[in-house]
Amino acid sequence: MSNKDFYEILGVSRSASDDEIKKAYRKLAMKYHPDRNPDNKEAEEKFKEIQKAYDTLSDPQKKAAYDQYGHAAFEQGGFGGAGGAGGFGGFGGAGGFDFGDIFSQMFGGGGGARQPNYQGADMQYSVEITLEEAAAGVKKQITIPTYAECDVCHGSGAKPGTKATTCHTCGGSGTVHVRQAIFQIQQTCPTCHGSGKEIKEPCLRCHGEGRVQTTKTVEVNIPAGIDDGQRIRLTGEGEPGMHGAPAGDLYIHVSVRPHKIFQRDPENPTDLHCELPISFATAALGGEVEVPTLNGRVKLNIPEGTQNGKRLRVKGKGVKSVRGSLVGDLYCHVVVETPVNLTERQKELLVEFEKISTGLDISQTPRQKGFFDKLKDIFD
Ligand SMILES: [Zn+2]
Ligand SMILES: [Zn+2]
Repeated sequence: MSNKDFYEILGVSRSASDDEIKKAYRKLAMKYHPDRNPDNKEAEEKFKEIQKAYDTLSDPQKKAAYDQYGHAAFEQGGFGGAGGAGGFGGFGGAGGFDFGDIFSQMFGGGGGARQPNYQGADMQYSVEITLEEAAAGVKKQITIPTYAECDVCHGSGAKPGTKATTCHTCGGSGTVHVRQAIFQIQQTCPTCHGSGKEIKEPCLRCHGEGRVQTTKTVEVNIPAGIDDGQRIRLTGEGEPGMHGAPAGDLYIHVSVRPHKIFQRDPENPTDLHCELPISFATAALGGEVEVPTLNGRVKLNIPEGTQNGKRLRVKGKGVKSVRGSLVGDLYCHVVVETPVNLTERQKELLVEFEKISTGLDISQTPRQKGFFDKLKDIFD
């Protein structure tokens, strides 16, 4: 453990108020948050240091002990306060990540009927990526709260020099039988909460839990082609188990931010769709236009006489399949735009165009032809 002064770490004076300490902590935590400093070991160390300093200075009992005894307060047999969750509360906002939420997720689900085997719970974490990242694949560093074995009691939960004893309520089995009407049901022992052990003198650092809060950074490999709402499972990266039980899994829920231009096909997520506005002159005469793709522009040929709503395919410019090497296509949906704010000259030309179009061969306007044919069916 580094013995740097906690006040110095947060850059506040010894007489700083709770508010000043909180403010200083937030500012530094934002600056050194591993999400903002990927691959920066120094920032990560600094972040942990800040976390530790705030963990102490934000807890009135721990702070009082620290003010009086310094770092000695937290060494073996020291004066650790009986604080609650400490440091992590109210950390929202730094890189869109809320420690408080994760902690409540981690421990919210237990509901008392917890298995006595103390396997770590599964954890969930949400990551938002862009469509470009989803298409190409991306590595993300995420920092999540976790637990480490308490360095004072080495995981036993008992104050150094004392030992955990067999639970007197359940005799060490971790469960008790309760009579309810004519049934006997088995329940987790209310005294030891399933551990089978009773700790008479809890460790002051971890309050008998045998573990302390900390953070860890995990690198997540998000594969190319991943779709919105898919999950990635990292086996064994969830909540650590207690008493040697296996850790839970970490589920990364991936959401893909909506793109300004492209939409993924809900039926076939390797295909992309976009709107392609063209002038009515181009629609009538045909021509070459540039269309956007996820990796630059490409030229696309508009056939002569293209109608509004026509779907034009750009082969191989979709998204790679997350499972194989297949790459989808890009579909451009033609929107023939009616021009607005015409100049006098433009209007003149259009009036002339309309004049010479009167008595036009009806085969030149296929929609109108269909329309009038239907009218004829109805009224004649
Ligand atoms: Zn401990
Ligand atoms: Zn018990």
